Amino acid sequence: MRLKDKVAIITGSGSGIGRATALLFGREGAKVMSMDILGDTAEATARDIKDAGGQADYVQGDVAIDADVERMVKTTVERFGRVDVLVNNAGILAVMRVAQVSEDLWDRIIDVNLKGVFLGCKHVIPQMMEQGGGAIVNTSSVAGVRGESNFSAYSASKGGVVLLTRTLAVEYARFNIRVNCVCPGLIQTPMFDRQLALLSDREKALERMKKTIPRRQIGEAEEVARGILFLASDEASLIMGAALPMDGGVWAGDPPW
Ligand code: NAP
Repeated sequence: MRLKDKVAIITGSGSGIGRATALLFGREGAKVMSMDILGDTAEATARDIKDAGGQADYVQGDVAIDADVERMVKTTVERFGRVDVLVNNAGILAVMRVAQVSEDLWDRIIDVNLKGVFLGCKHVIPQMMEQGGGAIVNTSSVAGVRGESNFSAYSASKGGVVLLTRTLAVEYARFNIRVNCVCPGLIQTPMFDRQLALLSDREKALERMKKTIPRRQIGEAEEVARGILFLASDEASLIMGAALPMDGGVWAGDPPW
């Protein structure tokens, strides 16, 4: 049990990668605070952890709202006494050419994907410093380390997450707080399914997508969860400021045609 008795908050844990991470953390012995903008999905994840014999609770909130994130950390400390791990995972996506992106949509994507990570770190770091340390894992994207057509706001937000991660890693290393991020490629989640559903020929589009991945296979949420678990655990004690590609080889180079 790699997180035995550690207290972990996971944002966006009602669905996809966040849910898989929360369930895995629960199996690894963590006391999990499940957080999502939808209270019922956050609660369902917490319930599933408890049904499997783990410990969990949930809190509803919007990661882009300062008071909600402050309450998330406070509630966790009240409930479990401390916070050892924060996974800033909640995120949203819109795929369109930059000229079609409205100012409101740009602001919302940056607010959730980038400001949300800032707020999580801002509110949890004082608690971790008081305790003597902790680990933060942020969910960036392969779109945060390379350009992707039609992903302007999303890529900008996720690129910001990579550099925020590195900045906080060097700022807090001496306080025994490790900050890292994962950079998933295409992962089978409800977010992925929603994008696929917008395309005209779903099967053909899926085959085209697979050809852009060196391993020729879409990732599973559980595979990303295992990378997050490693970075959150003491096994990663020397790792600070990493942006771990979890993309079947996409970031490594051209796909093998
Ligand atoms: P998902 O299935 O849509 O799950 C994201 C969860 O976050 C949803 O429950 C969502 O609620 C919630 N959420 C959205 N905005 C929120 C907010 N403001 N405050 C709190 N919770 C919020 O997506 P996913 O694919 O698991 O994505 C998880 C993370 O991985 C995101 O940061 C995403 O950008 C990143 N990522 C995903 C992929 C991929 O291919 N799937 C690839 C690279 C990176 P709603 O459903 O109500 O929006």
